[in-house]
Amino acid sequence: MLRRRPAVVMSTPQNNFIGINVSGDHVRAALVDEHGAILESKIEGVAKELIPQLAGIVQALRTPEVHAVGIAIPGLVNRQTDRVVAPRDLPTNMVEDLHGGLTRATGLRVELENDANAAAYGEFKVGAGRGSRNLFYMMIGNGIGGALILDGKLWTGASGFAGEVGHITIDTEGLDCVCGNRGCLETVASAPSIVRRARERLNRDSTSSLSRLGLQKSFTAEDVAHQANEGDDFALMMIERTGKYIGTGVASVINLLNIEKIVLGGGVMDAGSLILNPIIHEVKRRAFQPCFDATEIVAAKLGLDGAPIGAAMLARDAH
Ligand SMILES: [Zn+2]
Repeated sequence: MLRRRPAVVMSTPQNNFIGINVSGDHVRAALVDEHGAILESKIEGVAKELIPQLAGIVQALRTPEVHAVGIAIPGLVNRQTDRVVAPRDLPTNMVEDLHGGLTRATGLRVELENDANAAAYGEFKVGAGRGSRNLFYMMIGNGIGGALILDGKLWTGASGFAGEVGHITIDTEGLDCVCGNRGCLETVASAPSIVRRARERLNRDSTSSLSRLGLQKSFTAEDVAHQANEGDDFALMMIERTGKYIGTGVASVINLLNIEKIVLGGGVMDAGSLILNPIIHEVKRRAFQPCFDATEIVAAKLGLDGAPIGAAMLARDAH
């Protein structure tokens, strides 16, 4: 699917960048101008051979003004070696030499970044974080990622893995997590864990006739959010409890960093104020009051465009 935006009339030559977000099932790419505006975008399913696919997308979006390509990947990116270590939702052999392979295939400078880091940078430059110098971003979807912008720069840690807020421990006796730890925030507040908790509850209490969810064989976290928006008591309770878990994590981040802004994105935040309000309520209950008072907690603005825009902006600013 190729969407062309109306042609922009420009009197001076423009520097453009291509930003691409690869998720477990989709490739979302955009031609982005130097101010972070999307000029053209493209969405495809993930092919078996990722490097030729991405090279083809770059070719389709490329204009003479394109200077570099930014790629956002679900997984950890080692900044010293530019290799993907621990990819999430994608086989390792598909992505480990993405940087080298795509550089050779396109002849362009390629910058590789973790998807939450890229989305954070997008929000920081043109979205909900615009105008701030320091922010913490959380992406709450199939997994929970995080990223830190300090003094206007993405802070990636000693080897590129900073911000993994989804793997802070919420329950010392909790469920095993994909990371090897147990009781991580991700095991109770990610989209799949909302479905799991809802299912457990419905199994225990089959008289939950209050909930239309119980009548469905399969449902997703989006269904829970939708039913909550329709006023379903059970779905509302599930969303509120999720907000409580997320708020507990956010309170720790605020106490640790005394950060000026928290930006919350990802599919789980599609529940809007139904989830944002319990998050803020829980943070207020748990964080140091002066830290809480100094922090603004807001929803992300760019949605699924955040990661491709952020990847393009990182490619713009990386050299
Ligand atoms: Zn974990």
